[in-house]
Amino acid sequence: MDAGVMGQLRRREMASAISGAGRCRLSKVGAGRRPPPARVRVAVRLRPFVDGTDGTGDPPCVRGLDSCSLEIANWRNHQETLKYQFDAFYGEKSSQQDIYAGSVQPILRHLLEGQNASVLAYGPTGAGKTHTMLGSPEQPGVIPRALMDLLQLTREEGGEGRPWALSVTMSYLEIYQEKVLDLLDPASGDLVIREDCRGNILIPGLTQKPITSFAEFEQHFLPASRNRTVGATRLNQRSSRSHAVLLVKVEQRERLAPFRQREGKLYLIDLAGSEDNRRTGNKGLRLKESGAINSSLFVLGKVVDALNQGLPRVPYRDSKLTRLLQDSLGGSAHSILIANIAPERRFYLDTVSALNFAARSKEVINRPFTNESLQLRVLAPVKLSQKELLGPSEAKRARGPEEEETGSPEPLAAPASASQELSPLQKLSSMDPAVLERLLSLDRLLGSQGSQGTHGLNTPRRERMVLMKTMEEKDLEIERLKMKQKELEAKVLAQEAVDPKDKENSSPTMLRPLARRTVTVAKPLKKAVVMPLQLIQEQAASPNAEIHILKKKGRKRKLESLDASESEEKAEDCWELQISPELLAHGRQKILDLLNEGSARDLRSLQRIGQKKAQLIVGWRELHGPFSQVEDLELVEGISGKQMESFLKANILGLAASQR
Ligand code: ADP
Ligand code: MG
Repeated sequence: MDAGVMGQLRRREMASAISGAGRCRLSKVGAGRRPPPARVRVAVRLRPFVDGTDGTGDPPCVRGLDSCSLEIANWRNHQETLKYQFDAFYGEKSSQQDIYAGSVQPILRHLLEGQNASVLAYGPTGAGKTHTMLGSPEQPGVIPRALMDLLQLTREEGGEGRPWALSVTMSYLEIYQEKVLDLLDPASGDLVIREDCRGNILIPGLTQKPITSFAEFEQHFLPASRNRTVGATRLNQRSSRSHAVLLVKVEQRERLAPFRQREGKLYLIDLAGSEDNRRTGNKGLRLKESGAINSSLFVLGKVVDALNQGLPRVPYRDSKLTRLLQDSLGGSAHSILIANIAPERRFYLDTVSALNFAARSKEVINRPFTNESLQLRVLAPVKLSQKELLGPSEAKRARGPEEEETGSPEPLAAPASASQELSPLQKLSSMDPAVLERLLSLDRLLGSQGSQGTHGLNTPRRERMVLMKTMEEKDLEIERLKMKQKELEAKVLAQEAVDPKDKENSSPTMLRPLARRTVTVAKPLKKAVVMPLQLIQEQAASPNAEIHILKKKGRKRKLESLDASESEEKAEDCWELQISPELLAHGRQKILDLLNEGSARDLRSLQRIGQKKAQLIVGWRELHGPFSQVEDLELVEGISGKQMESFLKANILGLAASQR
């Protein structure tokens, strides 16, 4: 053990003598010199071909470059590959021992120092997460290896005559659809996650089994594993639909005075598959499950991102998974995320998405992944369908600058049969347009976040962060000005509504009315901003009106913007709108368009959508692709059915009426 670690250990021991176990010891002792939050290390593991092929008939679409980087064919430009850099890369020939010894074993010793650690296997279903974490009797994975070593270590360190007595306990739970379920006691139902005064995360009621040997561990673990929620998807017969979380606690008690105690937690997590919903053919419950899975993975990505960028706010509370890991991911904890990927072309999209999730740096390399002349023919149909799919402006936005410059017409699509054997990207030619759209929007999202746009690629991290912050501030400023303008316009309208004579005198430009805003009274303003009603007023007069107003008795709702002469009578009446189905459909379509194409800022301009919901919607869209109907909003985690309905009610008429 090196001097630095010993020093740290002594500091923690001193702290524990003062204030007991936990994180607050660190914060009290280390006040003013708190260690910087630990980065989450990211490793990628590429599994070999497993479906009986050796890759000769179906060449891989991804390959390793060295022990830290890999490259993958770029679906957007056949002349390029994308090179990703990680803390470690394990190729298809790497063994279970390589991964364990390289990325997991080194963090175990920190548990005996009273620190926490976590190992998470991420990736699409079928890419090797369970193989990496659990493995098989012939090729045991991270979990059995870590348990063996940890138990051995505690036996040595806690033996008779040693200053500390050590004990190990295990808990095993799954997070399924945002519910925390105890796999050692499945009857216990959804458990709550709590935080104690020292910042330790606890799950009251979670079963903890003491273990002293590996056999004991297996005795609890194997039957509990069978309790995991699994379902059948097209991709994998027994695809895991939940995050499986094994918690191993190492508790230490000093044998002599001052009888200090300390505790280290290790989370070993086999995450649920990160694959795209539509490819798995998920519907109904499965789609809901995928929604929950993907949004918690999305939050995990944001947490890892925030930690690795040193951002002041880490959104741990946005999902159960990250809330549970709050004291074991970042902070003083040691964490490793192992992104598992598969070489087969059918995994291409999920591989790109897993790499983008895991990587915060990537580089475009100007070289074709395989034979260039073959790929030219193969990629042509993709570009065609991409242009067909998007409007001209969208398509232009989606194209990289390099494509805009080339501009030369691509050769026409080769017949599917001819391209069948050609390149790792051949499947892209027959790619579902919706999937293509998803890729494009993923690109746009990453581009807008500055983590992928070519401008930001080689910029040092700090500089990029400053740039992003400046952009964010500018966006806010623009947003603020827009709001102000809207407000002023509304006031002008209000003024005109109150005093029609003024209209004649007023200037045709916006400037004059703005200067009058101090004399605008509050009440008329209320009338003027009710946009749909203003429209009703105009349309009611027209013989082809699409909105009709019906009068009902007995209710007290008051609509003020109708004929002023009748306003008193109306105060006792209820007015109801009857809207033509065509207009409603138009409104729905506009909402759908906004949901699918609007930025978070655009979405915030809608009623009932604040900053958080806008981000949730954009995040959902990037993970799942476009919404097929407005009701899909309900699938976004954090938006209930009721909220979706009230959102629709609040927006549909306004949008239907605008620009019609
Ligand atoms: P996931 O848990 O991500 O859905 P699995 O771990 O179940 O994926 O892996 C899918 C299949 O691939 C399994 O049959 C597994 O044994 C095999 N596999 C995964 N990774 C490897 C590897 N590195 N070497 C050999 N076989 C692997
Ligand atoms: Mg699995």
